[in-house]
Amino acid sequence: MGRVNVMRTISVKAPAKINLTLDVLGKRPDGYHEVEMVMTTVDLADRLELTILESDEIRIQSEHAYVPNDHRNLAYRAAELLRERFNIQQGVEIVLDKQIPVAAGLAGGSSDAAATLRGMNELFSLNLSLEELAELGAEIGSDVSFCVIGGTAIARGRGEQLEMIPSPPPCYVVLGKPKIGVSTADVYRAVRMEEVHHPDTDAMVEAIRQKDFHGICEHLGNSLESVTLKLHPEVKQIKETMRHCGAEGVLMSGSGPTVFALIEHEQKAHRIYNGLKGFCPEVFVVRILGKRH
Ligand code: ATP
Repeated sequence: MGRVNVMRTISVKAPAKINLTLDVLGKRPDGYHEVEMVMTTVDLADRLELTILESDEIRIQSEHAYVPNDHRNLAYRAAELLRERFNIQQGVEIVLDKQIPVAAGLAGGSSDAAATLRGMNELFSLNLSLEELAELGAEIGSDVSFCVIGGTAIARGRGEQLEMIPSPPPCYVVLGKPKIGVSTADVYRAVRMEEVHHPDTDAMVEAIRQKDFHGICEHLGNSLESVTLKLHPEVKQIKETMRHCGAEGVLMSGSGPTVFALIEHEQKAHRIYNGLKGFCPEVFVVRILGKRH
């Protein structure tokens, strides 16, 4: 009898996200904060290789010192959720090539979970739509839904309610991460609602629709920035260096500590990269990824 040749391994990319805006609207009875954020993916990505196992285990392999390889890993949680929900008998091995800095405000863990959902959907022929996968993703973490779909979106609720919008015009993004890692929960705990600065989300969305690069730079805003700046003054130094080197728009992403600069021309992007390289341990020049998955 002939054997059916089924796919056993799949390779998936998990891009990082940046927040062009992040507005904290208030605290909810369930303990989460109500947010409104404009998020977009950039072409700095982890790579995951998923392989079907005959045994029923979920195995995570990663060389990264700060990335757990058990149920604390969001990719593990994604695999576990799909196995339970769809009664999958086989296990999966996830080899994680980590390129996105950890605990950085770039949603690396959430993107790994999202890539695991997309990858297992194909590997196990689950035939779920991206929207269905995004809904499942919300059970793992607030940013996972956006990472499932990618592109550019306004995220509301605790981050899981998405409205897709066109992508910003092509530009360079320089990312600079200081040596520290930041816990998102700690930053949200330190938020004082009466002191929150609210970005103008509508103006940002309009600038994006108009492909108005300078308007986008002008309306960058993050309610969490001043909170993280107080806890970690290093963030300010990176912002100032980027500005000093001529960046048009500069903002901290998510709960930080990564700061990004938007730049129209490649030469200037490299000037900023060189300006940061001396004292900032992790610096990347990337581009905005226009397309959704
Ligand atoms: P966000 O922007 O969504 O707040 P982040 O970029 O600040 O995310 P992550 O890199 O996702 O933060 O990691 C936060 C913590 O989650 C890490 O300290 C790590 O212990 C844990 N973690 C779980 N799974 C992963 C993963 N696949 N990759 C990296 N960290 C992970």
